[in-house]
Amino acid sequence: MKTKLFFAVAAVLSLSSNAQVKSTFKGQDPITAVSTVTRPVEKQWKGVFDKTGDEVFFGNDFAGARLNGVVKIDENTFSVLITPENSPINGSPWYAFKVWSKTDKEIQIRFDYPQNVKHRYNAKISADGKKWTASENGTFVKREKDSNYVLKVKVSKDTTWIAAQELKTSKDIAQWISSLKNKNNTAEASVGLTAEGRKIPVFSIGNPSSKNKILISGRNHPPEVTGHYALEAFVESLTADTPLAKKFRKKFEVYVIPLLNPDGVDGGFWRHNSGGIDLNRDYNEFNQPETRAVRDFLKNEIKGENKLLFSIDFHSTHDDIYYTVDPNLKGNIPGFVPNWLNKVKDGIPGYTPHVKPLYFKPPTFTLFSYLFETYKTEALVFEIGDNAPKDFIKKKGEVSGEEFMKLILESSKN
Ligand SMILES: [Zn+2]
Repeated sequence: MKTKLFFAVAAVLSLSSNAQVKSTFKGQDPITAVSTVTRPVEKQWKGVFDKTGDEVFFGNDFAGARLNGVVKIDENTFSVLITPENSPINGSPWYAFKVWSKTDKEIQIRFDYPQNVKHRYNAKISADGKKWTASENGTFVKREKDSNYVLKVKVSKDTTWIAAQELKTSKDIAQWISSLKNKNNTAEASVGLTAEGRKIPVFSIGNPSSKNKILISGRNHPPEVTGHYALEAFVESLTADTPLAKKFRKKFEVYVIPLLNPDGVDGGFWRHNSGGIDLNRDYNEFNQPETRAVRDFLKNEIKGENKLLFSIDFHSTHDDIYYTVDPNLKGNIPGFVPNWLNKVKDGIPGYTPHVKPLYFKPPTFTLFSYLFETYKTEALVFEIGDNAPKDFIKKKGEVSGEEFMKLILESSKN
């Protein structure tokens, strides 16, 4: 009897460890066509939710907020409803809201998403919407009986901000741009306007008369804040006062478009723009103003002898990964991407880059594949894990920027 029981337990254990191996992040499958014709998005009601009694209040009247409803379950338990801008949509349930109460107390907040949407982002908590801490382990728990996630949080008459990731809205990004040194344009330049009239900001670094151009972009997808932090660190290595960066800036010009989807970011969207479309599927049909603005900006800049040598589009996903063009396709600087990623590996002890070719042949739906087909740009997608620690992201962005400058200076010698 005892032996039998032992085998039964061993079988269960091996099943569960298999399941863990299976869940290792493999990256996404090849991208297929979807219509990018404008579709309606649902606007959030904005204000203070007042059906929660006279003790605890919730609000969503700020840029980047997402809170679609609140229900009081008992004195100290509230359910928040989080829904996407439209569907079908990726499972990136972004939320951001404020909560406050008349007296100091601990409450439980139950997260309710539409059916089949899995909880993804551990809550970030802030007292001012600027400085954030991750909620402690154990305060965000899955309830066995209803499979919803519940966050325990202390509230008071002072506002507590709760969000899926730290808030980085169009205003925050504009402030970051104006804080940068060693860039060419001081005015707030843009490649164009969104349907809601927001600017899609652009700035340039380096030598405007250089024929050798580079493009850095990010935030196609609103919740991908960790990717934005990597973009910041990468760009700051290019604008630094180091001898390497100064040498690099004499020989190259870099365009930076850090916020491709300002309507989605400020609207607190899960994925799409205000036309209800995943912008990174529209670089074939160009139905959306954002993708047309990027296309037309580059058409205007990359002409005559100008070459778009290299491009990185920053994103976030479940785990760190680089999506590249099929290494058999030859771009402007063949072999550059694998060489660079090897240098990045050497520069971060214990880190092994996860690389997956994701573009093989037209049609082009994504920005990086469009750039490769149009300009033979050595383009790639730089994905940062949702839960990557901020200091690691910063280190990775810096090392990536420094190794990139060294290598491209070497390859342009001949
Ligand atoms: Zn993305």
